[in-house]
Amino acid sequence: MAIAVPEQSLFAIAVEQFDQAADLIGLEDELRQILRTCKRELIVHFPVEMDDGSIKVFTGYRVHHNVAAGPAKGGIRYHPNVTLDEVKALAMWMTWKCAIMGLPFGGAKGGVCVDPKTLSPGELQNLTRRYATEISILLGPDQDIPAPDVNTNPQVMAWILDTYSMHRNAGVTVPAVVTGKPLLLGGSAGRLEATGRGVVYAIEEAAKAYGIDLTQARVVVQGFGNVGSIAASLLAELGSRIVAVSDSRGGIYNPNGLDIRTVLDFKQRTGTVVGFPEAEPVTNEELLELPCDILIPAALEEQITEANAGRIRARLIAEAANGPTTPEADRILADRGVIVLPDIYANAGGVTVSYFEWVQGLQHFFWSEEEVNNRLRAIMVRAFQAIYATAERYRVPLRLAALALAVQRVAEITRLRGIYP
Ligand code: NAD
Repeated sequence: MAIAVPEQSLFAIAVEQFDQAADLIGLEDELRQILRTCKRELIVHFPVEMDDGSIKVFTGYRVHHNVAAGPAKGGIRYHPNVTLDEVKALAMWMTWKCAIMGLPFGGAKGGVCVDPKTLSPGELQNLTRRYATEISILLGPDQDIPAPDVNTNPQVMAWILDTYSMHRNAGVTVPAVVTGKPLLLGGSAGRLEATGRGVVYAIEEAAKAYGIDLTQARVVVQGFGNVGSIAASLLAELGSRIVAVSDSRGGIYNPNGLDIRTVLDFKQRTGTVVGFPEAEPVTNEELLELPCDILIPAALEEQITEANAGRIRARLIAEAANGPTTPEADRILADRGVIVLPDIYANAGGVTVSYFEWVQGLQHFFWSEEEVNNRLRAIMVRAFQAIYATAERYRVPLRLAALALAVQRVAEITRLRGIYP
């Protein structure tokens, strides 16, 4: 069964969260005005020639929320429900994410309104190259550096890199224009796994702070894509029991634990986790309410709402997806004492290793996977400590603490730069 369609404007949610943080830190009105709006919003409509010779026109977006701290950084999503509103919210969250992790980037996001599963590989390549060309007025290693998001992958990044390099550099590779690209083209060791790995590093820190034993923990994962499947595999390695996982077609549940490697093989063969023999089927809605210690939403936004927040049985929610929890749900969860590791921290491992990849690309000097993972852990631990200390100081949930920290940093950067002219 499909996930419920988002009911509320995602950008309105992002702004509501921002306002709460701005109130908490007493941010002045001038900076509120600047930080609650997106700096640039590009909408492109472009034709693509399909395999049968017909032409289809697609719509895409690229939004920069804020570039005070550095070049705009953010993923590109291919999904039939992509809207400008969604892309704006995701761009704003990227600004806060980079600020929390201390990365020299601003926030961006992009997307094309398309179901890539309906395209042939050739059509997907044509669409990607044309979209990259349309948004290339914004792109560049010092301006705007895309990365993969839902339904995009290293191959899509390779086509964007090639298109940009052809236009700007006579075909000579410009590695630092995208991250999440294949290793052979200057990708970073560990980037593919970085978001899921970062989620697990975040969970390990929270587990220490709140006294959760990961060797005994039961875990539910919604969304078994790049991020969800890696997080599930790494938690299983730590001894946790993954009791349920799902994808867009539905979920599977086994209270004794799923063997994640076998589920991955099954998904590889059949294209879905649904029908996995050693489990019972559950819907995506039921999955969120299963008894567990840790719930990892790793699919799309607005999954935990006021309609189901009262029935969530997890002790800890680690937001691998962006925006899976609405503000009403946040209030219900806080009242019930459920700890929420917020998206802008929990899934920031991806952009952090993207930063490492960008640095390696600029220097043409590449690090080992061990070095990447160690540096990622150090930054995840540092950020958790800062967020936890802020939460204690203001006596607020982790999301508000993380946002307060991020908004404070971007506000301070803006004050230092001053208002041009
Ligand atoms: P992906 O395309 O690899 O995987 C998405 C998964 O969600 C798939 O298993 C898909 O079947 C499932 N899904 C889609 N619609 C669903 C539905 N209606 N119900 C249940 N499952 C559904 O994407 P990803 O890169 O793993 O991204 C997942 C989430 O993580 C997104 O919110 C994304 O913004 C966020 N994120 C990704 C990265 C990254 O580096 N890839 C970084 C930060 C945040």
